Amino acid sequence: MQTEIFIPRRIMGIIGHPLGHSLSPVLHNWAFRKAGLDAAYMAWPLPPERLADFITAVRTLPITGVSVTIPHKERIKDMVDEVTDRSALVGAVNTLFWGKDGRLVGDNTDLAGFLRPLKDMNARIESALVLGAGGAARAVLAGLKELGVTRIAITNRTLERAENLALDFDVDVVAWQERTRSEFQCLVNATPLGMAGQREDETPWPEAYFSPHMLAYDLVYNPGRTRFIREAEHAGCAVVPGMAMFTGQAAEQFRLWTGQDMDLTGAARVCAQALAGN
Ligand code: NAP
Repeated sequence: MQTEIFIPRRIMGIIGHPLGHSLSPVLHNWAFRKAGLDAAYMAWPLPPERLADFITAVRTLPITGVSVTIPHKERIKDMVDEVTDRSALVGAVNTLFWGKDGRLVGDNTDLAGFLRPLKDMNARIESALVLGAGGAARAVLAGLKELGVTRIAITNRTLERAENLALDFDVDVVAWQERTRSEFQCLVNATPLGMAGQREDETPWPEAYFSPHMLAYDLVYNPGRTRFIREAEHAGCAVVPGMAMFTGQAAEQFRLWTGQDMDLTGAARVCAQALAGN
């Protein structure tokens, strides 16, 4: 009996610690198969003390690209040959790819991922309030600035963190307790409130303060429809669930590694099936 061995021409993967259950391998491997590419995407749990060794391996082995997640997104900036402008703006690297002359480049695709659904729906945003001031909020603020949103504010449970971010991006600060007092057309949830598990019943925004002209954008993508999204929809708001940003940032990685477009509708279906455990 002959055993078939699959040796991919291109290898990609994700590093993080703890890596947990990432959707990225399911999504990228589906996209490679669909595009008929001889490639494989793996999950590489990597503790912080192994990061430098990992970069040596990337430079030595035929690794085409890497997705980078917590806690490596900041430290890895100093280990690559260059970082892109958008990565410098966001202050974190979530993607490695090979640039010109064999240079290892650190990029950030969260910004493109955040913008993708807004561009697809031709959203016109005049004012926006970002809820949360962590790493993801930086990509959101950079995206809102790129869209030319004229009034942007940030609110966060820890005021000092919002103030620091507001200085970096030249936006306003609203105290967390006063977040419902002023009107904003767009609300972006960049906190983990609503995430599957212990936080699933939580929301960063009281239901009574949604109004129909608003756009509610959630970064949380598991569950697919969070309490924030459900309540906004019930109030008549336009909504963008977090899966749109997740597939958008993955599509940008796929483009960097393969030069091809990812089918976003199929990508959303594959991720939803993976979340549902099918
Ligand atoms: P992070 O750096 O840990 O920041 C978390 C933020 O949420 C902080 O501002 C924190 O406030 C706030 N927060 C945490 N618990 C809170 C609570 N109980 N009440 C109020 N505020 C609370 O996380 P991150 O990397 O920015 O990620 C934020 C969320 O975005 C996560 O759910 C992540 O999965 C999601 N995300 C999604 C995508 C996507 O593609 N859809 C991409 C990136 C991130 P303090 O400063 O007071 O602690």
